[in-house]
Amino acid sequence: MGGCRPKSASACRSPPKLKRTNARDRAHEPQKRLELRLLGVDFRLECSARGHDVRAIGHERLEPTGGSRARGADTIDSRVDEPKIKGASIRECLLWHDRRYGHEETLRLTERLPPHHLAMLHPSQPALGILGASWYPCSLVQGMCDRLLELRGGDGREFALAANREVMPRIMHGMYRMVLRTVGTPELYAQHIQRLWRRIHTTGERSIEILSSDEAFSVVENWPGHHPLLCWMTIYTMAYMFEVMGYKRWSVDRVACVSQGGARCETILRYRR
Ligand SMILES: [Zn+2]
Repeated sequence: MGGCRPKSASACRSPPKLKRTNARDRAHEPQKRLELRLLGVDFRLECSARGHDVRAIGHERLEPTGGSRARGADTIDSRVDEPKIKGASIRECLLWHDRRYGHEETLRLTERLPPHHLAMLHPSQPALGILGASWYPCSLVQGMCDRLLELRGGDGREFALAANREVMPRIMHGMYRMVLRTVGTPELYAQHIQRLWRRIHTTGERSIEILSSDEAFSVVENWPGHHPLLCWMTIYTMAYMFEVMGYKRWSVDRVACVSQGGARCETILRYRR
């Protein structure tokens, strides 16, 4: 998942001079211009807005501006030794776990954690105090995932699917979702998947090969932060992104996983509109 942030409040201007996708909308609705970064590419969008209903009615891809971008707060330090994972999705998963099972059950996920991991948490707070913008050791998350599978059984697939359905819309909402739906393509997603992955994980190499108009081959390798549950979460996150891009019908076939003796984790995603 990548960030998609308005560059500034002043980025909204008029009038746009963009390719029209819906002439009737343009003629009758107020329009705003918005520049957004999606999947590592800058886009300028012409939007119509009525109340909370924001829709893109035209877009253009901006030319690269050159030079290096400022390192944002999300940028990780490549020198970190221990594999780490960004707190955002973990926080949302724990909040969802709280809603579904109750906070007492969420507390049980910490039962096997060593003291130095417990010291990073705040049990009385929502999501055990996990912060969305902070980085956490994969070993901490893996420990909670291990406990979750002990308590719930299975290899995490069903849990990951159920959690993903609730968590992803909360993580990817509003403008980001709208932009991805409007201009996102499997090829663009595949092209930038490693960069998006690095926004969440300090380790692991991620790739997606678009095999045909309805099939993609996804790989995760060299990922010390791997856990069967996180592996399924990764797979269903990818499927969700395709769903937002308009491919409502999809299926995933994990053909290899390091937790089952594979050299790497491989998944075939089949998708149709
Ligand atoms: Zn795996």
